Amino acid sequence: MSLKLLDRFRDPELCRALLEKLDKELEGELRFMEVCGTHTVAIFQSGLRSLLPEGIVHLSGPGCPVCVTHESEVNAFLDLAGRDDVIIATFGDLMRVPGHGGRNLKAAQADGARVSVIYSPFDALKIAKENPDDTVVFLGVGFETTAPTIAATMTMARAQGISNFRVLPFHKTVPVALAALMDDTATRIDGFILPGHVSTVIGLEPYNYIAADYDRSAIVTGFEPVDILQSLLDMVRWRNKGEAHVANNYRRAVSDEGNAKAREVLYDVFEISDALWRGIGLIPGSGLEIREEWADMDAKREFGVEITEAPPLPGCKCGQVLKGILSPDQCPLFKKACTPANPVGPCMVSTEGSCAAYYKYKVD
Ligand code: SF4
Repeated sequence: MSLKLLDRFRDPELCRALLEKLDKELEGELRFMEVCGTHTVAIFQSGLRSLLPEGIVHLSGPGCPVCVTHESEVNAFLDLAGRDDVIIATFGDLMRVPGHGGRNLKAAQADGARVSVIYSPFDALKIAKENPDDTVVFLGVGFETTAPTIAATMTMARAQGISNFRVLPFHKTVPVALAALMDDTATRIDGFILPGHVSTVIGLEPYNYIAADYDRSAIVTGFEPVDILQSLLDMVRWRNKGEAHVANNYRRAVSDEGNAKAREVLYDVFEISDALWRGIGLIPGSGLEIREEWADMDAKREFGVEITEAPPLPGCKCGQVLKGILSPDQCPLFKKACTPANPVGPCMVSTEGSCAAYYKYKVD
């Protein structure tokens, strides 16, 4: 996209006009949640958070892939990293996520575990080729955005006859989780700013139930200030009229149908399963597991990885933060025992985490 076009979506005059309309047209309170780490950061970085009318309440939801990865899943990573015959391949933001006893992959690496930070799952294939006597396990976390790439990597591994590559699949799917949030009476959400990247793959249809069954609006939204303000204004206007809609305000990047080819690759390898989410618990049908046909690349099957409820990290309120029940600064450890340099929980580890965004951008 040209910078000139982007400028339109950052135009201060347009932002001011939209903010004035929001202020004028808002009736009562509108509690909106974004479920994408990039939106969390964009809302803070652009200064929108402090400019929004008082009645517009911003809740940051479970949109950071590392943050929603359950404690017991992190423990499984650590257990696998402890094996002599395994090389772990992972994206960097998982390295500092604490598991049992506050231990993380970085500490495991310092103690001699073979953990490689990679920038693409395809890099893990290179490591597998270079280490034919070991098993290379890629830690699969994230949403529908990353799953197609991992599926494509598995397809490539099979095509190239790489027999020592595995994936430990802990992917989550976004639309079903939103129902769990709305069902939770402690979480009051009037509408959603829907994730741009995930929607690129899945399109609009999986969200339609939000308006049809829950009478709330949900809008696929870009990451510029004008994108976000326009979606909030649409939500306010619909609510004033007693309406709820699911819409796409990010047509320059997302088609209503999503990406059929990416879904084909994804569902050739993965199928829908139940998943444990940090702070939310088990959500039926909200995860992805490897199909029987691809069982030879499934680290869960090969190493008998069992995922069960694990106690939350002592003192960490990440679970409530991810559900929009608490804001990060309501956690007693925020900016005290918990900082980006010494994170107690994952919401402070990832740059997309709400606690890290609050720490970096929120003015007291
Ligand atoms: S501030 Fe730290 S301890 Fe508190 S919820 Fe966030 S990550 Fe957890």
